[in-house]
Amino acid sequence: MTMPQPTVDYIWKNGKLVKWDDARVHVLTHALHYGSGVFEGIRCYETPAGPAVFRLPEHMQRLKESAKMLYMDFEYSVDELCQIVIDTIKANNITECYIRPLVFRGYGSMGVDPLPAPVEFIVAVWPWGSYLGEDALTKGVEVGISSWRQRSYNASPPAIKACGNYLNSSFARMEANRHGYNEAIILNEVGQIAEGTGENLFIIKNETLMTPCVSDGVLVGITRDSVMDIARDFGYEAIECSLVRSDIYTADEFFMTGTAAELVPVCKCDSIEIGEGVAGPITLKLQKAYFDAVHGKNEAYKHWLTYV
Ligand code: PMP
Repeated sequence: MTMPQPTVDYIWKNGKLVKWDDARVHVLTHALHYGSGVFEGIRCYETPAGPAVFRLPEHMQRLKESAKMLYMDFEYSVDELCQIVIDTIKANNITECYIRPLVFRGYGSMGVDPLPAPVEFIVAVWPWGSYLGEDALTKGVEVGISSWRQRSYNASPPAIKACGNYLNSSFARMEANRHGYNEAIILNEVGQIAEGTGENLFIIKNETLMTPCVSDGVLVGITRDSVMDIARDFGYEAIECSLVRSDIYTADEFFMTGTAAELVPVCKCDSIEIGEGVAGPITLKLQKAYFDAVHGKNEAYKHWLTYV
């Protein structure tokens, strides 16, 4: 299914707001050829006190860390980056949106060494509904274990959000869709569960939440962190541990987290029903609490919001 890209009026590009249609790059842009970029995915939600961005400083900190790994000269402070995001949302007069900052090696010098190419920075925002579909949030999705493996930390580190990393995710996602699944589950080279193509993973067994350790090869998801906090506030144990595919098949509940995907129940993996084969009760309880948090409906999590 192809969806047209929703547009807004302005995109932040290299220090100023430019018209959406004018935010262009040259075909010899380094990142286009060699994947030399890093990015973030953030969401802004409507709240009773106006639009607010969820965990904006944490996303900007991760962006800076990703840029550092690519030896990029990217001297903005977290505060300055947050302000650029807010200015871009305001300029577009939009209340709920997805936010995509991208730092990339631009046009000026070809060849694998990225350092001679200039560093460019854009922030785009646009309205984006549920990543895996509205039904996904209530009914759950079907996933399949991919035949593609996660990149190792000494190949293309999973812990940073680099453009080139998503070639691996794209292989897995295309395969999953070809097999009729909504999303792929990627294992690392030794067969431990890593992550989805754009989501972290959680299983629930005997009321304990378990998610793969960072050292098993995952992006340190900000939704993952938020959901662990929320779960612990409910009194559940939430731990990071190595998991293998049989842990998924025999779990009571299974769900995925990500800024774009939000908190999505998984009802089947490799056509095997997880638990009762429907969105699990603890999953739905955490999902509601997560949506309350992002929509500013729970006082306890208001410190996660940056109001526009
Ligand atoms: N893993 C991958 C590969 C991702 O692309 C994402 C989305 N950024 C996540 C996990 C979830 O991260 P977050 O909750 O910070 O969006």
